[in-house]
Amino acid sequence: MALLIKKSCINCDMCEPECPNQAITMGAEIYEINPNLCTECVGHYDQPTCMKVCPIDNTIIHDPEHKESNEQLWDKFVLIHHADKL
Ligand code: SF4
Ligand code: SF4
Repeated sequence: MALLIKKSCINCDMCEPECPNQAITMGAEIYEINPNLCTECVGHYDQPTCMKVCPIDNTIIHDPEHKESNEQLWDKFVLIHHADKL
């Protein structure tokens, strides 16, 4: 499941540099997560690192519109980082 940044984001810039997939970018008003690039940090960390660094509770949440199994997240990780070896 990709993650989602809610309107409570204060644009503190903490999460963007931490994302191993460059899935986080500044949007029109707040930071946004590209669901095609977010793997919940599968392949890199045990937990979503953006959630860990965000200082505002419940601002980064699981996006109910983008439900994915662990297997799908691993497939996405391979496509993003190892597509040249497939
Ligand atoms: S969960 Fe990981 S991959 Fe997804 S946006 Fe956050 S830091 Fe990036
Ligand atoms: S860490 Fe949280 S508050 Fe800071 S920019 Fe990212 S989502 Fe917004």
